[in-house]
Amino acid sequence: MKEVTEPDKQHNTHNALRQIMIEQKRWSLQGFSISGLSTYFQIPELDLCVDMGECPMSALSLNHVLLTHSHGDHSRCLMRHNSLRRMMQNPTQAVYYIPEPVYELAVDLIRAETMFEGVSQERFDLPRLECVKANERFSLAYRKDLEIFPFNVKHSISAFGYTVLCKKKKLKKEYTQCARDEIISLKKSGVEIECEVREPIVSFMGDCLGESLWEERHIWNSPTVVCECTFLDQDEASMARKKGHTHIEHLSKVLSKVGSDMACQNIILTHFSMKYSKKHVFETVKKAIPSEFGEKVRVFL
Ligand SMILES: [Zn+2]
Ligand SMILES: [Zn+2]
Repeated sequence: MKEVTEPDKQHNTHNALRQIMIEQKRWSLQGFSISGLSTYFQIPELDLCVDMGECPMSALSLNHVLLTHSHGDHSRCLMRHNSLRRMMQNPTQAVYYIPEPVYELAVDLIRAETMFEGVSQERFDLPRLECVKANERFSLAYRKDLEIFPFNVKHSISAFGYTVLCKKKKLKKEYTQCARDEIISLKKSGVEIECEVREPIVSFMGDCLGESLWEERHIWNSPTVVCECTFLDQDEASMARKKGHTHIEHLSKVLSKVGSDMACQNIILTHFSMKYSKKHVFETVKKAIPSEFGEKVRVFL
């Protein structure tokens, strides 16, 4: 029998099915992200996936999928998610949220993909797709306590970022000083003492130029920001611009401009270029990020 050899480290870093997990306070970010290879994220506690460059079994129980843009490394397995769920006889229809600029193309692609697999036109049945418009907030289909705010980011093609918000009831300002008994009696007498608020949980930037991190600076109000950081080396700034990606120097500049007293406590860097070793990424990020952000920044590798 042939001896089994250990996969080398390089291969391990580039194995899209070997998932990374970063724990946050109330939820965890799982998935994988390397530029050109594959990007997908799962947050089981929020019943949410963002992008589907690969579809591991762990994604199948999640009912909502947000697509940032149509590049293959982010979108390739969107319909694999749907068909595997069908095979597993999942009774719930997953919902796929598609940015408006590519919505019609997505419908055509899904139809073509299904035909390619030998399904006839008559038997073709479109999965549940929702067309998402920039700056128009919406509730998740099966999680009415969660809303999504989509926004445009600058990339080589149309692309969206998303902020996930939690809807909560909060005591109106004028009642915050009231005693508990008083609150109870006011509530009993039918006084509207609460108002609805939306608190950001996490923002996903998808693929974008570094300037979107400043232009869309509302993202820094989220406790966690997941952003791409494709390019790291000093001579790659123009390459980053040409390809519509973020260079770490640009990210560092934006962080300095926003200031370390930002609400954001966790900045998760993703989507590094395939050519870097894990060691190179860790060392360069450590060097490039202003020291006051050192505690906030994590590398998704
Ligand atoms: Zn990408
Ligand atoms: Zn892209």
